[in-house]
Amino acid sequence: MTAILPETMRRGACPSLSAPMQTGDGLLCRAALTAPASPRALVSLCAAALRHGNGILDISARGNLQARGLTPESACLFEHEARTFGLPLRDGIAIDTGPLAGLDAAEEADPRPLAEAIRQGVAERGLAPRLAPKTAVVVDGGGRLPLSALLADIRLRAVKNAGWLLFTGGPERPDAAHGLLTANDAVETALILLSQMAEKGRRFRGRDFGADAVRALAGARLAPARPAPVPAGDPKPFGLFALNDGKTAFGIAPAFGQVRAETLIGFLHAAEAAGIEAIRPAPGHALLLIGAPAACAAMEKAAESAGFLTRADDPRAAIAVCPGQPACTSALFDTHALAAEAARLPRLLDGSFTLHISGCAKGCAHPEPALIALSGQPDGIAFAFDGKAGAPPTASLAIDQAAETLRTLSALVELRREAGETAARCLRRLGPAGIAPALTKGTS
Ligand code: SF4
Repeated sequence: MTAILPETMRRGACPSLSAPMQTGDGLLCRAALTAPASPRALVSLCAAALRHGNGILDISARGNLQARGLTPESACLFEHEARTFGLPLRDGIAIDTGPLAGLDAAEEADPRPLAEAIRQGVAERGLAPRLAPKTAVVVDGGGRLPLSALLADIRLRAVKNAGWLLFTGGPERPDAAHGLLTANDAVETALILLSQMAEKGRRFRGRDFGADAVRALAGARLAPARPAPVPAGDPKPFGLFALNDGKTAFGIAPAFGQVRAETLIGFLHAAEAAGIEAIRPAPGHALLLIGAPAACAAMEKAAESAGFLTRADDPRAAIAVCPGQPACTSALFDTHALAAEAARLPRLLDGSFTLHISGCAKGCAHPEPALIALSGQPDGIAFAFDGKAGAPPTASLAIDQAAETLRTLSALVELRREAGETAARCLRRLGPAGIAPALTKGTS
């Protein structure tokens, strides 16, 4: 273990197995996997989290497993044990591929060889210590679970029979590609850009590259590309996915991204008994179970009984929520309590938009704008319409009135919704002025 960083000390700090982060309920250790793991190896990891932490596990928005409530001593033991379970652990900067990489018949190209070559290049050039801790590379093969929504300093996205589109900074935007690269040039260009970032120092991020600078660094490797549509795959990985080897993946998610280690251990034992061969945490706080189609189908009831989300139309799937109080020292209210109230409003949370509930203005759970973002502020909760957590609020709510405000908003949508209209369309049509009566009820 190398460093312990208070969560509030430095924006942009990123925890890992060897560098846990201080949170409101102790240290947080992140285990990032580069490939699916066996249920048994994950049972061992959960048992270690229970032994050494408070037994609460997160699956993060990027699909990493996080153990909470550790101490400086127990975090060392947790790291040491975690490295003995045969898990495909990732060290160094995030170089993400899709959770079905190499298994998805709908994939445009297999991203794993590129990701591995970039990983090796970063190690050989000793870049990781000189890059911003949250530096992320996304190598997206497309298919049914694309990574378009994940933030990336450098993004390579496959285009069938054409090569790899290069982007820098942010989520994927169709008009923001710098150009097309061959697979070899994609690796070399990513390493050139990462080297340049390392030279500029740990505050420099992919979003800081101008288009001219990228063109100058990539040189003749970069071929012009027309704006490519963002992949249409559903970013919510629920249900059954047929794989290219005859197996199936079954996507589920713990409610609000958290699960007790005991619950997950029981579920993993049931999965192994049912014939599930491998499991991969996935972006969107999800878990993908991989096995024969019958084994995956058999796990649906077990998942529901254990409290997991199994369907995209579950209202809980429409809520992006951070750990909040008491887990995070920056949190100004109990985000999960408000999320549980919101989950009782299926007419409002019909899957047409994401409700973002954030303990403070930082907005960890959903860095992008949301149609409704509720974030803690010193005197209550800021309500932002079509904005980010921390954006200038449309209204300020008292903490104990926020749930009532959402109920009033749900009733308003129910009343004003036109035929065939989703909640999102209705809210956008009404706009801030149209929903103001619902907000004034909870205004502090
Ligand atoms: S957004 Fe949530 S998890 Fe992130 S710092 Fe604020 S309260 Fe903590």
